[in-house]
Amino acid sequence: MTVTTRFAPSPTGTLHVGNIRTALHNWLLAKKNGGRFLLRIDDTDVARSREEHVEAIRADLAWLGLHPEREERQSARFAIYEAAFETLIAAGRLYRCYETAQELDLKRKVLLGRGLPPIYDRAALNLTEADHAAKEAAGEQPHWRFLLDHEAPIEWVDGIRGPQHFDARQMSDPVVRRADGSWLYMLPSVIDDIQMGVTDVLRGEDHVSNTATQVQMFTALGVSAPRFAHEALLTGAEGKLSKRLGSLGVSEMREQGIEPEALLALLARLGTSDPVDPALDADALAESFDLAHFGRAPARFDDAELARVNASVIHRLPFAHVAARLPEGMGEAAWDAIRPNLSTVAEAADWWQVVTGPIATPEFDAETREFLNQAVVVAAGLDWAGDPWGALTGALKDATGRKGKALFLPLRQALTGMDHGPDMKALLPLIGRDEAVRRLG
Ligand code: GLU
Repeated sequence: MTVTTRFAPSPTGTLHVGNIRTALHNWLLAKKNGGRFLLRIDDTDVARSREEHVEAIRADLAWLGLHPEREERQSARFAIYEAAFETLIAAGRLYRCYETAQELDLKRKVLLGRGLPPIYDRAALNLTEADHAAKEAAGEQPHWRFLLDHEAPIEWVDGIRGPQHFDARQMSDPVVRRADGSWLYMLPSVIDDIQMGVTDVLRGEDHVSNTATQVQMFTALGVSAPRFAHEALLTGAEGKLSKRLGSLGVSEMREQGIEPEALLALLARLGTSDPVDPALDADALAESFDLAHFGRAPARFDDAELARVNASVIHRLPFAHVAARLPEGMGEAAWDAIRPNLSTVAEAADWWQVVTGPIATPEFDAETREFLNQAVVVAAGLDWAGDPWGALTGALKDATGRKGKALFLPLRQALTGMDHGPDMKALLPLIGRDEAVRRLG
């Protein structure tokens, strides 16, 4: 069967690094196996879902290059859920309940007070048809629970966590549909996974207990469950995903100059024992992607690490890849010269400004001024077509006996207004003879 994965965000907010990691890993898993990657918009919660978030999710995935083969929306599939709902009622696997949130809360508190697990007591199973009729007559609408099979062992071999066992008796029958008819996520997700041929469900470990109940839903609907893998959650550098970090959406990262390649390289490896390699493209990342390499310890996401990976990615980006984002007139030679100094592509404009001028040059003491005056003469007479920086510094070294910092720093300061920056050998030809002579003088 074709490996089919899905990324199933609820469009109630923007994607953060944790969601992106889940999307990426599903994409990599599909790609590695020559399979399909689907985007499923989990918008059963009509009140909280927003179209602008759906659009942002699409745009974010496109920017990252994670193109889904197909997009599905749960809100367009209510009729399908209704049919499965009827099937499960007929099979006796769904039942009507009327407890209010307060009543359920009280039941939980009583159990906890007695030192017992707060499992729903299935009181509603004792209601007779006459009871239901009376509730209906009184205008009470039921919510629906899925009847777990207490006799069936719940087991799966998790792609990351290994063999898993759950005892249905220790779990509450999950509510699958609210009194107003709206769906909770659990059952529609199972129906979709079946109908869309999903073979692998890869998601965060906050879904492990959902999986335990969903495993029985697959069985109740007459199919075997897909493979499951649950990833350890992401934490921030401080130990938990900080507000700032947690709220970093893809578009904000993009505004901060993060390249998609950097995000992919880092997030592909986060949580594995494999080193982050900024040189790997999406194909190579997919090739080396392996669930067996994921550990169970929470994975740490660190802004500083992302910044480092981002810089390494930029230092490799070819001119054609960034040309449209560079200042007017900045060509390939300038990009190649400036690129090693960048932590974001936007900074290229600052260095291009250093090349084209005007720049503010510092005040020099008399001795340095004297040295620079000699530099003016040498620069004016150089063959600029070759390696003007090598020729300039070579001639000045011979003429003045200066070397090292005493030779290079005043020249760099006069020519760029800065103490550090791109390799002068690459920069000086870009500045050009006339401008260089002006700056030295
Ligand atoms: N909409 C669910 C979520 O965002 C999907 C979980 C799943 O992958 O099944 O948590």
